Amino acid sequence: MLFGRARKNPIRIANKAVAEWKYATCGYCSVGCSIEVGVDARGSPVTTRGVGGAEVNRGKLCIKGLTQAQIFAAPGRGSAPKVRERIFEDWQPTDWDAALDRVADEFKRVQARYGRDAVAVISTGQMMTEEFYTLGKLVRGVIGTNNYDGNTTLCMASAVAGYKRLFGSDGPPGCYGDFEHTQCLLAFGSNLQRDGHARVVLLFRSAGLPPA
Ligand code: SF4
Repeated sequence: MLFGRARKNPIRIANKAVAEWKYATCGYCSVGCSIEVGVDARGSPVTTRGVGGAEVNRGKLCIKGLTQAQIFAAPGRGSAPKVRERIFEDWQPTDWDAALDRVADEFKRVQARYGRDAVAVISTGQMMTEEFYTLGKLVRGVIGTNNYDGNTTLCMASAVAGYKRLFGSDGPPGCYGDFEHTQCLLAFGSNLQRDGHARVVLLFRSAGLPPA
């Protein structure tokens, strides 16, 4: 008996009307899973799937990768620029040229009054290497401020402090490949087999260990 039902309902896989699969890299986290995005006949993303031959994720995606197509139509997602003159006023729609000119003018105004380093730029961990390089050049070479950092630095700072105190090194002392070779693995503070990262759970399963 399945929770009061005598018969299990058949699994139905929704037909998302995928017209083409496009290869990409998931940019949500630093694992960088190989992902294929299914687009419909209008070119809109409708679903995703992992790439089977990819060494990093071997066909699997975590829930963030699996639901990634949904963010394109998520309520509240910004699709056009808006400006407001004062913080307590409502946002007003504008066009991209006007919005970008406004940002440039404000950067110049602040720098003219307080110095070039008065502007700071914080980037994201969700960009590719080439984009990081380009943004770094733009910030330091064109905007002219030395105050440029990425959220990767910030979010890893506490982890690195822990690594150094625990292992004497500023990086994780192992790699995914070690999982397949070790005879003994101790995990503290986390049930890796059940709650761990999608890639780690996959390694446990491929080693024949069921969820704990
Ligand atoms: S683990 Fe999840 S969020 Fe990270 S790259 Fe893979 S699918 Fe994306």
